[in-house]
Amino acid sequence: MERKYKVVIVGAGHAGCEASLACARMGLKTLVITLNVDSIAKMPCNPAVGGIAKGQMVREIDAMGGEMGQTTDYAGLQFKILNSSRGPAVWSPRAQCDKELYSVLMSKSLQNQQNLEILQSEVTSLIVKNGKVYGVKILTGETIEADAVVLTTGTFLKGTIYLGKMHFDGGRFNERSASYLSKSLAEDCGLVLGRFKTTTTPRINSRSIDYSKMTEQSGDEKPMPFSHFTKVEEWRKKLKQLSCWLTYTNTKTHKIVGDNLELSSINIGEVNSKSPRYCPAIEEKIERYPEKTSHHIFVEPEGYNTNEIYLNGLYTGLPFDLQKQMINSIAGLENAKVIRYGYAIEYDYSNPLQIKKSLETKTVENLFLGGQINGTTGYEEAASQGFVAGVNAGLKVSGKAPLILGRNESYIGILIDDITTKGMDEPYRMFTSRAEYRLSIRNDNADLRLMDIGHSIGLISDKAYKKFEFYRKVLTNIYEGNAENLPSDEELSPWSLEKAQEEVYIRKKYEGYIEIQDKMANKMKKNKDRRIPEDFDYNKLESLSAETKQRLFEVCPQTIGQASEIRAIKPSDIAILTVYLEKQKKEKK
Ligand SMILES: Cc1cc2nc3c(=O)[nH]c(=O)nc-3n(C[C@H](O)[C@H](O)[C@H](O)COP(=O)(O)OP(=O)(O)OC[C@H]3O[C@@H](n4cnc5c(N)ncnc54)[C@H](O)[C@@H]3O)c2cc1C
Repeated sequence: MERKYKVVIVGAGHAGCEASLACARMGLKTLVITLNVDSIAKMPCNPAVGGIAKGQMVREIDAMGGEMGQTTDYAGLQFKILNSSRGPAVWSPRAQCDKELYSVLMSKSLQNQQNLEILQSEVTSLIVKNGKVYGVKILTGETIEADAVVLTTGTFLKGTIYLGKMHFDGGRFNERSASYLSKSLAEDCGLVLGRFKTTTTPRINSRSIDYSKMTEQSGDEKPMPFSHFTKVEEWRKKLKQLSCWLTYTNTKTHKIVGDNLELSSINIGEVNSKSPRYCPAIEEKIERYPEKTSHHIFVEPEGYNTNEIYLNGLYTGLPFDLQKQMINSIAGLENAKVIRYGYAIEYDYSNPLQIKKSLETKTVENLFLGGQINGTTGYEEAASQGFVAGVNAGLKVSGKAPLILGRNESYIGILIDDITTKGMDEPYRMFTSRAEYRLSIRNDNADLRLMDIGHSIGLISDKAYKKFEFYRKVLTNIYEGNAENLPSDEELSPWSLEKAQEEVYIRKKYEGYIEIQDKMANKMKKNKDRRIPEDFDYNKLESLSAETKQRLFEVCPQTIGQASEIRAIKPSDIAILTVYLEKQKKEKK
């Protein structure tokens, strides 16, 4: 068998799937190599897609011709628009998914994709000559040649699993880690690797839960799909939504956790790397906020054909016996039976300051990195980077200029800009507050922002693009007040008149604010040299979070520009600081 490809993708997680499909759909002979074909697009943590800022990213991937949105629409078991009581700029779609179905559907998309082959194996090293990658070596000893390679290895590089004091090798529970590739990344590619960690929650049996003690959380009455191409009415008719439930930890839970912190893998020093600050283990929450007597626990189904329930909010590295005690202390879970224990995992990642905005490494030409390997956390962050890395590998081998998304046009652009310019010292996840242009980059207008790009790179078909152009024309007509002879919904499908009218309403509502936002963003750019007094007391800025203040006190930036370069300082923090300094200057005058 000839083993020569245009692009080889290593890994078939959320990043790898998007990368593989993008390359193959660009007409390039592509191979995806993964450790276990049975766990393609597996969701080892909560089987939920979207949420605050993440939902926007899924819509962006979809608008450019990616897969995550469509797969979620058909694997979702509950759909909700988060933040719906606030303005449309922060409305964020979220879906709880059937984890098996998601994996099966994505796997099928890969298997059915023209130009794409799948191989179950372990990539052990990269073939690098004169600063350029020429392929990979796999466990069987075979060499596979490729013009470009995309690495999307997730939590697998030298993965170590921790359950209390127990620890063993693994990329996820019951899946082995990739133990060879890190060496090649360091020695052949000159990449500096670090260690991060993350935790997941225990899963329990639905039949052992007393739901009468919990509050029901239903899906939206008029659910909205993620994909621009899903026909809404037909889809709604087929969708059977399941409920989630809400309960709380209490002082008893906190005592069990608090009394045993030293037994958790989070604190015993065996896992000494950083975990995601915004997805903390229950141990970390109890340590960080001792004044709090309860935390939310969302009780969420993992599928239509399983009784397994995910306890969202109960991420833990505690030993198994304490996990049981902790769960049984919670209202409605007194008799809950654990099916799988929660655990922590520690893995190698590559510092993203070593990659360009195209996601190509600076040290090795034609080698691209996407997903958790770049130090991010989350399925959506992974899929976004996988998509961009795949597209750029495809563009590079086709001799074309890379796709670089701007901060003002997408959350994906913000993510890539942040990680490649600021780096990170803890796993990175996306928030709306990271966006200085969040009024313009909404979930409702992802198509208007990005579908031209999707078409130009060949991932949105001519047929679909024609439909989109028609919708955009109708939208302009409505916006300009030419609302006569509007087409029927059938003619506009998969878009609709309702969608067009809503879009015009949102656009008009925000016009004035967007002007102010753009002025503010420009002002922030101009303000980079503004000095911050040496003894400035950040505690005066009440709207800054405790973490932000702590960072600012630690670094003591001398200018606004320096402050904005500090990791974890968001554009919204800089805006607050700038406004305060300006006010102070005026008062002094
Ligand atoms: C225990 C745990 C807890 C988590 N908790 C959270 C959380 O709280 N919040 C959150 O947002 N996200 C969480 N996640 C992270 C989430 O799973 C990832 O962000 C996401 O899956 C990353 O996608 P990815 O495509 O980068 O990598 P993954 O989904 O990890 O996929 C990696 C793929 O690469 C393959 N692979 C790796 N090395 C090789 C090799 N050498 N050769 C061939 N194939 C290889 C693997 O087989 C796999 O298919 C958690 C993950 C785990 C395991």
